[in-house]
Amino acid sequence: MNSPVSTHQSPLADWFDAGWRYHAYSFYLRQQYGARVQRISLDGGMSCPNRDGRVGFEGCIFCDNRSFSPSRRMPQASLATQLEAGIRQVRTRFGCERFVAYLQPSTNTYGSVTQLRELYEQAISRPEIVALSIGTRPDCVPEPVLDLLGEFARRTSLTVEFGLQTMHDRSLTWLRRGHDYGAFLDAIQRARGRGFRLGAHVILGIPRETREDMRATARELARLDLDAVKIHNLYAVRNTPLEELVNRGSVPLWDRLEFVHAAVDFLELLPPRMVVERVGGTAPPEFLVAPRWCRDRPGLLTALRAELLRRDSWQGKLWHS
Ligand code: SF4
Repeated sequence: MNSPVSTHQSPLADWFDAGWRYHAYSFYLRQQYGARVQRISLDGGMSCPNRDGRVGFEGCIFCDNRSFSPSRRMPQASLATQLEAGIRQVRTRFGCERFVAYLQPSTNTYGSVTQLRELYEQAISRPEIVALSIGTRPDCVPEPVLDLLGEFARRTSLTVEFGLQTMHDRSLTWLRRGHDYGAFLDAIQRARGRGFRLGAHVILGIPRETREDMRATARELARLDLDAVKIHNLYAVRNTPLEELVNRGSVPLWDRLEFVHAAVDFLELLPPRMVVERVGGTAPPEFLVAPRWCRDRPGLLTALRAELLRRDSWQGKLWHS
């Protein structure tokens, strides 16, 4: 990225000085490790309480785990095999030597402590793995699991990423998440101070949410002072209830500019310290129903930067500590 024009009120942030308008994950990793670091998606073969009947059977309205995660699209292989293949592939493509192991599909804290310990041990077993990211739901972190996560946080840089999506309970119900916002607050409160980073995954463009509703979610993440966030657009993949609604015309999906405007609104309210691990989500062509624009990642990032520059804005411009 080119250096932005320096303005009044600009943040005292190293990422801004380096030409970024938000605290991008790639920048953060480079600062931490002094070199390019890439994430490797791993499938621990876990289940989800919103699928196995403990919370629900049908899953979230948008969920087909195969569309989210490269690891779940491959025939089930051992974690060691996935690591080996992932490292080889990413090393060849990006020439990097350090990696973040990312337990991505399903609920990766949903199991016994013994089972989870073995899973996390395998995920960090290679010397090239410098950090571990664990994706989960806020209603799946009982105390013994939090103790285990704290133990691993003493051995590696650990991020626990909670699927939040939105702070609004009516939207969580529409998404069929099977938990409310209170569950997220409870998880954050119990997880804090255990040595691992706390992240949230949010979705912009949920039907009937206003721009102000989305800004309210951003303010909450800022208030909670999380370490990381992923900001996705709502998109539909095949064989999900959302696909049916989109095909019927009852759920309008945003165009790129609508998402970019809402994403910039969101970024403006986040503290400069918070790492933005991703802006925009997509799925492989064989899974994606709509919108098609989210396949064009460079186009999205260019539009995002253009909007930030047009507003002469940046992450945290409207954040108040
Ligand atoms: S919680 Fe995650 S894995 Fe479970 S149904 Fe929802 S999106 Fe899918």
